[in-house]
Amino acid sequence: MTDMAMCEAAQRQVVPFAEVSARVTGTAPEQGMSSSPLPQIRFDQVSLAFGNTLGHGVVQVLDRVDFAIRAGQFVCIIGPSGCGKSTILSLAGYLRPTVGQIVVRDAPVVGPASDRVMVFQSGALFPWYTAADNVAYGLRVAANRNRVSSRNTNVDELLDLVGLKGFDRHYPFELSGGMRQRVEIARALAVNPDILLMDEPLGALDALTRLTMQAELIRIWKETAKTILFVTHDIDEAIILADRVIVLTARPSRVREEIALELPRPRHRDDPKVAALSRRIANLLGVVF
Ligand code: ADP
Ligand code: MG
Repeated sequence: MTDMAMCEAAQRQVVPFAEVSARVTGTAPEQGMSSSPLPQIRFDQVSLAFGNTLGHGVVQVLDRVDFAIRAGQFVCIIGPSGCGKSTILSLAGYLRPTVGQIVVRDAPVVGPASDRVMVFQSGALFPWYTAADNVAYGLRVAANRNRVSSRNTNVDELLDLVGLKGFDRHYPFELSGGMRQRVEIARALAVNPDILLMDEPLGALDALTRLTMQAELIRIWKETAKTILFVTHDIDEAIILADRVIVLTARPSRVREEIALELPRPRHRDDPKVAALSRRIANLLGVVF
């Protein structure tokens, strides 16, 4: 095995959730979790135009979008409505770019794979399954694709990880919005992906639950060491969560600016540094306040 191949194999090693949960969480993933020279995922000069299939004309959505994300990083994408944020996440799975490529580790993306999983706003759960069965579904998918860690990963552990111990027999209609979102996250984690693709996952929650879930998401991220690509249109949310914020322009979208956030966590909205960053991002988005 070459040095590079060994490094790759080490990076891909599956960490059982039991070990993950037991890990002392004091080390921030941004502080050198990956020593691999390869980014976890890279958008390489990606342009995308939707075709004229219904006679509405061609829509140029993305224009040479280019960025790279290291393993274990939490990156937020922010941009005006309709600029192509969801399209970027789709390109990490089933959509093909018109020009350019998306590369995961060293392999160009040619379709969906269970090393990348999408987490939607709550509402994608199976309503006829309990919380436990929804998560078990994720485990079955993972088992079929050989991605489930062989030791110890089970439904209880995943529900525990997302703070839902004791709610295994509840159906989605018996859970609050925040709890349903926790089930969504547990189901996605069951597939044991390297990358979580999150499309405004907290967008449907009330303001207080949203704040709680932001903190919970940071906790879960630290415990699992996943790479997260998180789309939001909420400037403060991006600053509270991310290692790095990618600000997009209006359509056809380009990367307007990438902002590295070196503030320690937890971050607070009333911190003057957060407020200053918020204003800077708002200015980049053309919002005056
Ligand atoms: P965002 O998530 O930033 O709000 P989207 O990525 O959903 O934006 O969409 C970007 C643009 O792409 C939209 O303005 C829309 O016009 C266009 N679009 C999205 N999906 C399709 C599609 N399936 N067919 C044609 N155009 C689409
Ligand atoms: Mg969208």
